[in-house]
Amino acid sequence: MIKGRVLFDAPMRKFTSIKVGGPADSLLFPTNVEELRKVVRYATRKDIPFLILGRGTNLVIRDKGIRGWVISLTQGMKRVQMEGEIVEAEAGLSLQRLVQFTIQKGLTGFEPFFGIPGTVGGGLAMNAGAWGAELKDLLLSITLMKEDGEVVERSRGRLNFSYRSLTLPSSWIILKGRFQLRRGKKEEILERVKSYSEMRKRTQPLDYHSAGSIFKNPEEGPAGKWIEEAGLKGFRMGQAMISDLHANFIINLGKATAEQVINLMEWVEKRIYEETGISLEREVRVVGE
Ligand SMILES: Cc1cc2nc3c(=O)[nH]c(=O)nc-3n(C[C@H](O)[C@H](O)[C@H](O)COP(=O)(O)OP(=O)(O)OC[C@H]3O[C@@H](n4cnc5c(N)ncnc54)[C@H](O)[C@@H]3O)c2cc1C
Repeated sequence: MIKGRVLFDAPMRKFTSIKVGGPADSLLFPTNVEELRKVVRYATRKDIPFLILGRGTNLVIRDKGIRGWVISLTQGMKRVQMEGEIVEAEAGLSLQRLVQFTIQKGLTGFEPFFGIPGTVGGGLAMNAGAWGAELKDLLLSITLMKEDGEVVERSRGRLNFSYRSLTLPSSWIILKGRFQLRRGKKEEILERVKSYSEMRKRTQPLDYHSAGSIFKNPEEGPAGKWIEEAGLKGFRMGQAMISDLHANFIINLGKATAEQVINLMEWVEKRIYEETGISLEREVRVVGE
């Protein structure tokens, strides 16, 4: 059906940053919109459930894996182009490549996102953000594919973004985003990128496999602060551990299972609720069986 790669019983731990997760029945890499359309139409017709995978940097996939198809856009759908101060990037492009592209072109706006791993598609689906900025802030429109293969463009005003979330029908796929940037001075852009990057290195356990922040920050303050104050830093379940450096990160010490990661998440939720009355909401998405 497609020229792109197809893997069967694909071990999903290899495709997620926290390195846990069992096999997906099939992992498909369509290389362009036409191939993606064929895949999506076939899956819809045959009632095959599918999940779009970016770089798996916000996902915990359960140990028995995923029944159905996982579709990745990272093999072909990653073009980026610019027209004046508007940049259009395909969903499979890494967010880092997009940030670097805009820096090279002397455009400002994307600096706070330097260091956020993942794809443009995943970043939009999660409304990724850092240091007070969110991807939606720069967005003009998103192009989407519906489950019947129809492609539509939606301007930002018609999209339902919130903190670390974009609400879309579950089978819609983000194909690309158009962003409005501004001309800037390259030295100043690089200076800002450097300081964001240093803050990240100082505060995040980047030497370990993780899925980034596990919980959203509640209104009452950063989730990491509550977890740290409850004395939970360094707590382990098997090979999954609450980072000593950043209490909102669970790190994989090497051979963690999804079960250990999820048990640790549930335990943190329970402890924080008991001690503070705060119900932590998950930022990472747990999928599979
Ligand atoms: C070390 C580290 C640091 C991080 N720092 C930050 C940070 O500062 N700020 C932040 O916001 N996040 C951060 N994250 C989390 C993560 O990188 C972001 O959420 C990122 O945007 C996810 O992108 P992804 O491509 O990996 O998506 P995935 O994890 O693969 O997918 C996430 C969700 O998006 C959906 N999705 C992906 N692509 C598409 C598409 N094309 N169409 C429709 N749905 C799609 C998936 O189905 C899934 O539900 C960090 C993670 C790590 C590991």
